[in-house]
Amino acid sequence: MSKRKLATVWLDGCSGCHMSLLDLDERLIELSEQFELVYSPIVDHKIFPEGVDVALVEGSVSSVEDEHKIHMIRKRTKTLVSLGDCAVTGNVPSMRNSFSVDSIFKRVYEENALQPQIPSDGVPKLLSRVRPVHEIVPVDVFVPGCPPSADTIYHLLRELLAGRTPNLAGTTHFGA
Ligand code: SF4
Repeated sequence: MSKRKLATVWLDGCSGCHMSLLDLDERLIELSEQFELVYSPIVDHKIFPEGVDVALVEGSVSSVEDEHKIHMIRKRTKTLVSLGDCAVTGNVPSMRNSFSVDSIFKRVYEENALQPQIPSDGVPKLLSRVRPVHEIVPVDVFVPGCPPSADTIYHLLRELLAGRTPNLAGTTHFGA
């Protein structure tokens, strides 16, 4: 049987959810027998391919670039997983939602900078509000936790391999 195509995506998050994925340790070797990692910040593939079976999405949708990316990912993915509280609720990145983008830029790049300068080149345009992934595209599985534990991610991937869609709402930990 051919391997399932797995992608992991890093939107507006701290990478802690990816650290949890790496905490699977030797279980990554076991999973690699059934999953092929086709896109991820931890590998060198630059293009999100067509026909992805499972995409684990870390982080909220905070910029125009994130919004464009999550629409493209949704179109190319069978099972889209919101991985971690930033993807599920907006979490830490959404703390900026009480403020305007202009006031945040002023605070960060003018009032708190030694050399005040609002960046423009190469900086993704921020959306006026940070939003969880499901407010932009349909999500198939929600995995709360900040970050979700490695055991939870392992359980999720084993269930998906078995053809089941786990309901992880309200849980952050499985196993020992
Ligand atoms: Fe980081 Fe927590 Fe957000 Fe994951 S859910 S990206 S660990 S802040």
